[in-house]
Amino acid sequence: ESLTVGELAEKLHRDSSEVIKKLMKLGVMATKNESLDKETIELITADYGVEVEEEEVIDKLDIDIYTDENDSEENRTERPPVVTIMGHVDHGKTTLLDSIRHTKVTAGEAGGITQHIGAYQIEENNKKITFLDTPGHAAFTTMRARGAQVTDITILVVAADDGVMPQTKEAIAHAKAAEVPIIVAVNKMDKEGANPDRVMQELTEFELVPEAWGGETIFVNVSAIKGEGIDELVEMILLVSEVEEYKANPDKRATGTVIEAELDKGKGPVATLLVQDGTMHVGDPIVVGNTFGRIRAMVNDLGRRVKSAAPSTPVEITGLSDVPQAGDQFVVFEDEKKARSVGEQRAARAKDEERNLTNRVSIDDLFSQIQDGNMKEINVIVKADVQGSVEAVKGSLEKIDVEGVKINIIHAGAGAIAESDVILASASNAIIIGFNVRPDVNAKRTADVEKVDIRQHRVIYDAIEEIEAAMKGMLDPIF
Ligand code: GDP
Repeated sequence: ESLTVGELAEKLHRDSSEVIKKLMKLGVMATKNESLDKETIELITADYGVEVEEEEVIDKLDIDIYTDENDSEENRTERPPVVTIMGHVDHGKTTLLDSIRHTKVTAGEAGGITQHIGAYQIEENNKKITFLDTPGHAAFTTMRARGAQVTDITILVVAADDGVMPQTKEAIAHAKAAEVPIIVAVNKMDKEGANPDRVMQELTEFELVPEAWGGETIFVNVSAIKGEGIDELVEMILLVSEVEEYKANPDKRATGTVIEAELDKGKGPVATLLVQDGTMHVGDPIVVGNTFGRIRAMVNDLGRRVKSAAPSTPVEITGLSDVPQAGDQFVVFEDEKKARSVGEQRAARAKDEERNLTNRVSIDDLFSQIQDGNMKEINVIVKADVQGSVEAVKGSLEKIDVEGVKINIIHAGAGAIAESDVILASASNAIIIGFNVRPDVNAKRTADVEKVDIRQHRVIYDAIEEIEAAMKGMLDPIF
């Protein structure tokens, strides 16, 4: 629930007119009944020297600050890890997901296996693991672009007979940008030309070095088709999660992220939600993205109706008033009236803003962002016509060091600027530098929508000089 000017004044024990005057000084024209966003509320309260109690400002856009009386550190207990499988096309992602599911789901449950809700859970030694089976990298990146982080561990699938391919590199870049641990599954070990050593060798270039060679990356040889190596892979996932200690509080109201959603002719809006914290129950009032509702029914990954869903559990729900988007976050509220009012406000605001992407990094305002202290690292994606140029541009960029601000190259490769580069840039707030390459049509369109800055150059020196100048504020006519 957000606050109107009048409500805020009351909480501050001030006159509304006084608050309105203060707002005017801040350049905000607002009447007494106008609602204020969180930033503005904070500005005003800071001006009065008052700290905002988070519960007082359960802002419609700020699910993160929503708190619960049962929310305390000691209530947090172990939760299953959430795993995403990535890799080059045809290297066996789908087959591996199927294989894990079939190997690990007990016979009694197998009946429900046809159900597809975009995610599933397995159980091994009384420990659960959640797998997202949304295809390709798109799910991962669009979710991250929307600010949702759902993946705990990435399984990088590399075919032993094919080795590291373009989408393998892309997957590595995505996982690294999200700071998610990577387990490498070297697949198709049953094939004639399988050469796992070559895969390991190739991956050392990306700092994925196997333990046997003194590194820290876990490699597991598998044959998804024959179901070989699956036990070990599952063991390794459990090992990583033991080290990482993923936790959540099952006693509080549920929060989480939309995995996928659609409109079903009979059931209305249907959404697969991943509960990331708390426990969700049938009947719960809920705000999901810009929509809201009351959970009418919940179905698990086996197609069974369930009454509640604990942390890391994926469930398909009905009862929403509209279809949310993948990557939207959700929050369960204690009463339906509140959920409705927050949901309606969010919908109204979403319409107002449509897309607010003003925080995007761009060459033109790099200096002011650095000055504001918002920018300690500048994320950059480098694309060039040939590998030699990629290395040259990368090398020169990495040497730039202006006032302690570092250039961080999150992805570099030869070839045209593709839509996936733009999505990665958008998810990581990065600038794309193209050297003798252009964005393709899709990349250009997405860059326009997502407001990603693409700089194209024909001379390496120009590319370097431009970014260095931008960092020093030399593009600013005042200097
Ligand atoms: P994806 O595009 O990464 O999802 O790859 P798929 O799972 O669709 O697999 C691509 C092809 O490789 C299919 O024809 C699979 O049958 C085959 N494949 C997948 N895993 C294996 C494996 O372990 N061994 C062999 N020989 N073929 C496999």
